Amino acid sequence: MTQDQATRYPIVLVPGFFGFVKLVVYPYWFGIVPALRRGGATVIPVMVSALNSSEIRGEQLLGRIEEILRETGAAKVNLIGHSQGAITIRYAAAKRPDLVASVTSVAGPNHGSELADYIESRFPIHTARGRLLNAALLVVGWAMHLLDTGYRGTRLPTDLDAAHLSLTTQGMASFNSQFPQGLPTTWGGQGAELVNGVRYYSWSGTLQPGRTNRGWNRLDGTNVTCRIFASTFTKERGQSDGMVGRFSSHLGTVIGDDYPLDHFDIVNQSLGRVGKGANPVGLFLEHAARLKAAGL
Ligand code: CA
Repeated sequence: MTQDQATRYPIVLVPGFFGFVKLVVYPYWFGIVPALRRGGATVIPVMVSALNSSEIRGEQLLGRIEEILRETGAAKVNLIGHSQGAITIRYAAAKRPDLVASVTSVAGPNHGSELADYIESRFPIHTARGRLLNAALLVVGWAMHLLDTGYRGTRLPTDLDAAHLSLTTQGMASFNSQFPQGLPTTWGGQGAELVNGVRYYSWSGTLQPGRTNRGWNRLDGTNVTCRIFASTFTKERGQSDGMVGRFSSHLGTVIGDDYPLDHFDIVNQSLGRVGKGANPVGLFLEHAARLKAAGL
């Protein structure tokens, strides 16, 4: 066991929309948690409401952070969030910067998701097709809750409409006006790395025909899903991971925004099946080493 990832503060992993800790035996952060632990890091994957607003999820996360600090004796945590988890951790850090050493957005829709915009325009909440879609998503959410063996707390509240509105361009603009920490001031630029004592970082990927649709992804249906979802993008057409645009993901120091990873590959889904030449676990290991080198 090396100590390359032995960060000073525990690393707390926060999942996105439809997040979970472990479905029966299948973890959300597939292969990532053990790899970080082998490098000496203390890693805690947490659960927040699978379907809810980023603010509600952020409040739940603050409660978990306080528990983790009590349990570990640490003074702060390093937060890493995937997808809506990135917005969730931004909320927590904005509210309690004293408890947070770093915020890292992994494929976070920091300026909104064009997929969410598309769904909002094509499946409005108060129409039959919108209600049908919501019902289907709620059934999936309920089934996932029943199967989640990695979370043993009380049942977390669900508000699908709030979750969805949290992810649109308009919803994120409203969130960003309240919680601008680490955001770039120009489209496609980088944000401040250090705000209120908290370091901000981000990375993301894009669909790259000939790479992301090759290798093990040929056997992974989530890659096909991302390719279908990518067709809903207009502003960042050809520059998305299927669910989040390249520039929309920018926050703080941008470590990279064009890794050959779709929105699921970036957390090593499904079952480590990623495209040709991709190494999503390596990005987490490099980042933990970066946090350690920064004294975090
Ligand atoms: Ca994949």
